[in-house]
Amino acid sequence: MPNDSAAMGITVLGSTGSIGVSTLDVVARHPERFRVVALTAHRDVEGLFRQCLQHRPDYAVMADADAAQQLRDRLRGHDSDVEVLAGMEGLVRVAGLSEVDTVMAAIVGAAGLLPSLEAARCGKRVLLANKEALVMSGALFMEQVRNCGAVLLPIDSEHNAIFQCMPGGFVSGQTARAVRRILLTASGGPFRTTPLEQLARVTPEQACAHPNWDMGRKISVDSATMMNKGLEVIEACWLFDTDASRIEVVLHPQSVIHSMVDYVDGSVLAQLGNPDMRTPIAYGLGWPERIDSGVTSLDLLAIGRLDFESPDLDRFPCLRLAYEAWEAGGTASTVLNAANEVAVQAFLEGTLPFTGIPRLIEDCLGRCVSTAATDLDGILAADATARALARERLAGTARSLAG
Ligand code: NAD
Ligand code: MG
Repeated sequence: MPNDSAAMGITVLGSTGSIGVSTLDVVARHPERFRVVALTAHRDVEGLFRQCLQHRPDYAVMADADAAQQLRDRLRGHDSDVEVLAGMEGLVRVAGLSEVDTVMAAIVGAAGLLPSLEAARCGKRVLLANKEALVMSGALFMEQVRNCGAVLLPIDSEHNAIFQCMPGGFVSGQTARAVRRILLTASGGPFRTTPLEQLARVTPEQACAHPNWDMGRKISVDSATMMNKGLEVIEACWLFDTDASRIEVVLHPQSVIHSMVDYVDGSVLAQLGNPDMRTPIAYGLGWPERIDSGVTSLDLLAIGRLDFESPDLDRFPCLRLAYEAWEAGGTASTVLNAANEVAVQAFLEGTLPFTGIPRLIEDCLGRCVSTAATDLDGILAADATARALARERLAGTARSLAG
């Protein structure tokens, strides 16, 4: 029987998504260690309903109010005393509950910002998958972590690998001594070798068919444009307190080395493993110990070879735009993220071609004035302005195509 008093209380924000499901898979392997306090989703009533029956949380939150009512109705008669909450208010509340030690921040996009920040403000152990939150509000987020005694553990596989390769006792946000460079690996996504002239016609299904990782649709498109790597460069700058000039992106199509740290003595430390997010998730959940994740051992002989290339910025302009946004500083990264979210959604809905994604983002970056990004109101205002502009430009493009 699980010993609830000794078990670590967990909130999983975005529990029905790819990271959320993998998190619950690891959690379920250690019933004596973890107790699920809260689960959250956007609109997936059936998904959260099934998770409630299996994991018996105290709280379930649906971001959508109608969906929350449906979940309440669905749970009635199932011998369930789960309290169902709704909206952003509910998400923020379960991120800060006193009985919660650890918050898995796995909502996709800017929607995860407020609950992730709340987890930091309440001094939780924050397992950060929601990279967009850090990209849009890095200075504020890291300040919150430092001032409130939170422990920030990166779950993004590359950043988790880098964290593992840092000197013992490393704390997110610190400058690691004797590190020369960070080598951030990237698979190159499904279009690494697609002829450039075909990119304008690729479909959402092709973009979401990642060669190595099974992920949500937004991050899959980001991987195909390599905006994912751009967001990860910015994420790494905040987590490892470094400038982007010391982060080198290396294409590594096998996705076996998850990233590397190059030290001043010439040593390069790497973390390797099968491409399965349960490894970084288990690392975050168990830290500072290591716990079973269900991931099989890496079979290097079956893989045979590891290849490396430099990324082609003509093929992947989104990567260049991310470096430029970091250089510009202030709210430029907030604008980059917001314009990207609007562009990716339009691509997934079929109203913007794949090659229109970087064009829309570049246009927004050129038109939005970057300001200092130190307070939440300023960040939310920059996010809203960039989204409105991106939608306006999209509507304009649709009109000009129609006319
Ligand atoms: P996903 O689309 O599979 O899941 C997203 C989750 O967020 C779902 O539970 C969904 O219900 C919830 N959600 C979506 N919109 C919401 C809203 N407006 N309000 C509240 N909840 C909302 O995404 P994913 O692939 O699990 O990715 C989650 C985060 O983790 C992203 O930031 C992504 O970049 C990051 N990440 C994912 C992977 C991966 O392998 N999937 C790897 C590294 C980092
Ligand atoms: Mg990653």
